[in-house]
Amino acid sequence: MATLEIRDLHVTVEADNATKEILKGVDLTVKQGETHAIMGPNGSGKSTLAYSLAGHPKYTITSGSVTLDGEDVLEMEVDERARAGVFLAMQYPVEVPGVSVSNFLRTSATAVRGEAPKLRTWVKEVKEAMERLNMDPSFAERNVNEGFSGGEKKRHEILQLELLKPKIAILDETDSGLDVDALRIVSEGINRVREGGEVGTLLVTHYTRILRYIKPDYVHVFAGGRIVESGGAELADQLEAEGYDKYVKGGA
Ligand code: ADP
Ligand code: MG
Ligand code: MG
Repeated sequence: MATLEIRDLHVTVEADNATKEILKGVDLTVKQGETHAIMGPNGSGKSTLAYSLAGHPKYTITSGSVTLDGEDVLEMEVDERARAGVFLAMQYPVEVPGVSVSNFLRTSATAVRGEAPKLRTWVKEVKEAMERLNMDPSFAERNVNEGFSGGEKKRHEILQLELLKPKIAILDETDSGLDVDALRIVSEGINRVREGGEVGTLLVTHYTRILRYIKPDYVHVFAGGRIVESGGAELADQLEAEGYDKYVKGGA
């Protein structure tokens, strides 16, 4: 079973000519087959954690480690991380001019699998995955992220997840900008991928509503750049009822 281990991770960003420490010692272990929800107030550093794992150049790791089965993830190039089985939606460019969804997915699958998928089975695979996500077939011919609505971006993210079958998937605010129907379809997609028991999921979210559809094994409260409390699914219910106030006061 693949294991992602984050140990005492400290990360800074440059903002207004100053170096600001955003992550202040994050410790987290995610194993294949487990679902972890990271929940916390806005500005607590949740996306910074996701971007740091994705290898985004704006984020400087000042100390700590991230390993996948003992291999140093932080030393890996972005495409090596994907090949090692770490999926991060945001590791891909925001907009890829002139590249269709169809070509983009095939290129990604080729990179991750180490060989180009056979064209005929691939076309079928994509078509079926798109049907499951209620996506119009014409979507495959559109350019990646060009004029995508919030909902289309999220569906595209889950489409990649279904096709690339990573060991560890990191999903940041997958629920934002989705209406109830889209949220259900996207959640079902995530659950299908989870059912195989082969993906470890790190679900980063401010709101508890996606957790009505996706039951996490572990919930972590993120505040002030670190995990301040961990528990089971019941912790999400508590957060829904009480909010983040008690974690923010004098803290974040
Ligand atoms: P969250 O996702 O929990 O809302 P973020 O990780 O987006 O939190 O942001 C945490 C803090 O780091 C905020 O104060 C934010 O302004 C700052 N920050 C994050 N990314 C950048 C960046 N690229 N440049 C400057 N400041 C950033
Ligand atoms: Mg934010
Ligand atoms: Mg965020």
